[in-house]
This record gives sequence, structure tokens and C-alpha cells, in this order.
Amino acid sequence: MKKQIRMPITLIALLLLLISLTSATVSAASYDAQNQDTNKTWGSLINQFQASQGLGQSQKHSLKDKVIVIDPGHGGSDTGAIGPNNVTEKTVTLAIARDLRKLLSEEGATVIMTRTSDRDVAYKGTSDIDELQARVDIANQANADLFISIHTDAFTEYASGTATYFYPGSNDALASLVQSSMVGQLKLYDRGFHPNDYYVLKYTNMPAILTEVAFISNPKEEKLLINRSFDKKVAVGIYNGIKKYFLAL
Ligand SMILES: [Zn+2]
Repeated sequence: MKKQIRMPITLIALLLLLISLTSATVSAASYDAQNQDTNKTWGSLINQFQASQGLGQSQKHSLKDKVIVIDPGHGGSDTGAIGPNNVTEKTVTLAIARDLRKLLSEEGATVIMTRTSDRDVAYKGTSDIDELQARVDIANQANADLFISIHTDAFTEYASGTATYFYPGSNDALASLVQSSMVGQLKLYDRGFHPNDYYVLKYTNMPAILTEVAFISNPKEEKLLINRSFDKKVAVGIYNGIKKYFLAL
């Protein structure tokens, strides 16, 4: 009798052990499956978001691995041009550069600014050439992929519009894309993109452009240049041009 009872108990224990092992395996498997489903859901949500934003998977963080030097024109002892209402070029170029840095960083680029405050890049009271060479040195030593110098133009109070410059004989693609993208954002007079022998374009070792965003000597454009939403549009214009440039490579 005792033996007969014992056998089923052992069998039942064995069965229970098997069941618990099996169910543990099953539940672990279903847990993984659930996780995969969750991942799939997130993945498709991200894809849907990117599609709605016009971004493909490959375009996300498209500037990763790119080193971009932003050069806010003038600074410190060098005010640059001064508008009829005393707006200084050095202040405007820094504000735009900061906005551009934010956009490029968010897209994964390593951004280096030749200056992040109101100062001379070389040293206080430096010569024009030493000052420009200091900016060139930053870009060349960083082995940057791109160099963008930001300026505002000055002539008469009637002169107006946006222009971009590249070094004579170098590829004009970057200048072309940034110019058209900026004009699209700002809707100012399109002065085009042109070769120019500027020091920072001549001595930098990478694709380089210098943009003249608008005329600080023109009271209307001077007023625009101190408008923060205008500055952000300038940054978006340059940023879109840079993105198009790298996508086209
Ligand atoms: Zn300037």
C-alpha cells in the first residue's frame, strides 16, 4: 500500500517540477516576445515620426562625425561694422553663431566656435592678420570638415540683401546651398554667391564660406539683425544648407 502511494506521489512531484520548469520557460519566452513587440511598436512610432518630418533613418543625426567650425565675425576690440542705430556687427554675428551651434550640435555635429564671447580670438588689440590667422588656426588644428564665417555687410543705408562667398577656384557647392537656403528663410534681396579672396577662406584647409547675412548699414536690416527670431531664421538657413551639402556628398 505504502509503495503504491509513494509511486504516484513521486510521479506527481516530477510532473509538477516539469510543469513549473516548462511554464517558467514559456513565460520567459512570452516576456521576450512582449519586449520585442514593444520595441517594434517604438521603432514604428519613430519611423512614422521621421516620415512625417521628412526624415529617413539614415538622416537622423546626419552630422554625426562632422567637425564644424563656426566663426562669429569680429569681437572684442574689433566691433566690425556699426549700424546707424549703433548695433555692432560683432554682437549680431555671435548671436547667430550660438543659434547655429545649437542646431548643428543637436544633429550630432562636433561644433567648435572661434569665440563664444565678446573677445578678440588672438589677443586684445591684435593686428587684423593675426586675428584672422588665429581663427584659421583653430579650424586647421581641429582638422574640421567645414568652416563657416558669419558677418553682416555695410555700405550705404540703401544697400540690402544676403550674399555668400567662397574661395576662388574652390568648389562652390556649399556657398550655393547655404545662400539659397538663407534667402529662402530670410526673403531678403538675393545678392548671390561669389568667389572672394577673404583671408579666412584662403588659408583654411577645408571647405569654407563667409556669409554676409544682411546690411547692418541699412536701418531696416539693422533692426532685423537684432531681432532674435530673425537670428534664428538665419541659423536655420545656414543649417539647412550645411545638411544639404553633406547629403549631396
Ligand atoms: Zn565683417
